[in-house]
Amino acid sequence: MALREIITNDDEFLSKKSRPVDNIDKRIIDLVDDMKQTLIKSGGVGLAAPQVGVLRRVFIIDIDAEGDGGSLKEFINPEIIKKKGRNDKYLEGCLSYPGRSFKIIRPNKVKLRAQNVKGEWFEFEGEDFIARAIMHENDHLDGITIPQIGTEVFE
Ligand SMILES: [Zn+2]
Repeated sequence: MALREIITNDDEFLSKKSRPVDNIDKRIIDLVDDMKQTLIKSGGVGLAAPQVGVLRRVFIIDIDAEGDGGSLKEFINPEIIKKKGRNDKYLEGCLSYPGRSFKIIRPNKVKLRAQNVKGEWFEFEGEDFIARAIMHENDHLDGITIPQIGTEVFE
């Protein structure tokens, strides 16, 4: 495993759309391992492949959100099935926009399907903080970043 550099403040690159993963080969497995290590080091809750310079539809989330890295889950070729629940407005940060926070409105429940590194499809449902993290990371795969959809808060 190796740490990858997180792209910051490069709106042009971060606005690109990522392509699906056709084949979960060693390059993708290494990418996921490296992303997990990079996320643990950075102390964030989620990381998407384009943030480390790879325009592929892959993101990882710490599904316990305790920051110990023990519960990192990969989502390859994720497809949002349903967004529902109340619309909450919360502050979000992003490892690609360090030190900045944005108020973002999102529904508080999400259901999606994705593949793991073995290529197996699974369904996952998240609420509140996890749902928000999933939608944030999934947005990265479509080139959507929080400066585009949120209101910056200066404190
Ligand atoms: Zn982000």
